[in-house]
Amino acid sequence: MRAEILIAGQGVAGTLLGWELEQAGVPFLIRDPGHETAATAASAGIINPVTGRRLVKTWRFDELHPMAAAMWRELGGALGERLWREMRVRREFADEEEREAWKRKAATAELSPYAGAPFDDGFWIVGAARVDLAAALAAARRRWRMQGRLREDGVPDLAAAAERHRMVIDCTGAAGASHAAFDFVPWEFSKGDALEIGVEGLDPDVILNRRLWVAPAGEGGALAGATNEPGITDPRPDPAARERLIAGTRAILGAREFTVRVHRSGVRVTLPDRRPVAGPHPTIPKLGICGGLGARGALWAPWLARQWRDHLVAGRPFDPKVSVARFLAASATA
Ligand SMILES: Cc1cc2nc3c(=O)[nH]c(=O)nc-3n(C[C@H](O)[C@H](O)[C@H](O)COP(=O)(O)OP(=O)(O)OC[C@H]3O[C@@H](n4cnc5c(N)ncnc54)[C@H](O)[C@@H]3O)c2cc1C
Repeated sequence: MRAEILIAGQGVAGTLLGWELEQAGVPFLIRDPGHETAATAASAGIINPVTGRRLVKTWRFDELHPMAAAMWRELGGALGERLWREMRVRREFADEEEREAWKRKAATAELSPYAGAPFDDGFWIVGAARVDLAAALAAARRRWRMQGRLREDGVPDLAAAAERHRMVIDCTGAAGASHAAFDFVPWEFSKGDALEIGVEGLDPDVILNRRLWVAPAGEGGALAGATNEPGITDPRPDPAARERLIAGTRAILGAREFTVRVHRSGVRVTLPDRRPVAGPHPTIPKLGICGGLGARGALWAPWLARQWRDHLVAGRPFDPKVSVARFLAASATA
């Protein structure tokens, strides 16, 4: 049996888990055939403290944001990449309902730390960030390839692989939901499409948001997204979504010209309680999971990776709100 932990999948979940294990000196091997179907490759990496039409503060934002900032900065330092960027969001009201929500909530203790100045048709959100996930994945892959810790293939059978390793941790995103071992988890899916566009003159520190978002990404470029199609599991780009994204981007950018460079897509994995999922399998202790990141991969992956590290190094239990065991208890009483 090999002494190392096997991480299956190198999206944002597997990448940060690998980084945490490397930092803790825990031997690991990471296997991923490439990022063809990775949701992370389609993601803008936005971390937003206030989301949704009802302007809700992101769950546990005050606690998780500093942890995410520190971890992304440390990883960026080791990889020689600027991965973390503080941002503001210029949020335009999409309709009267949003304007009313703003009037009701702007001064509340929940939102006021993040509510910036209002303007005629919207308001500013402060305390947001963007993580360059594409750079993180590519640079981490290079690092682990050089260290001999990366195998560029898939793990066909995770439970069988667990027999040969100290433990296997499933970071395969939407693909993982088809593994029989975790069929007691009530997986839900939401397909998303996004565009990489060419556009000049955007403020590099401002995300524009009006139903969709446009996030500056590099010189003369931006990411525009994202669609949200619950129940769709086909990860391939959808031409109809592309047209909707072009129309939405035009509405945000007004007279400013842009070109579409690349159309990307992926499948987000969520759970009914809208919390991520991590921890060892309740009856196969050598198999674990780290996923269910929904639309919050950039914020939640650091937290899950840290919990895995603390569990493997110090035996610390997982937060019950994210522990995979919560679903076993639910299925036993159903
Ligand atoms: C269009 C879009 C926009 C988004 N925007 C944001 C955003 O702005 N901010 C944010 O925080 N989140 C965003 N998200 C959500 C975010 O992308 C996901 O939460 C996150 O990327 C999920 O990461 P993951 O590592 O769990 O899975 P994935 O990124 O899907 O990675 C899974 C990896 O596992 C590999 N794999 C699959 N099967 C196997 C196997 N058998 N063996 C080994 N490897 C395997 C795949 O190749 C893949 O690389 C967005 C998602 C989409 C689709």
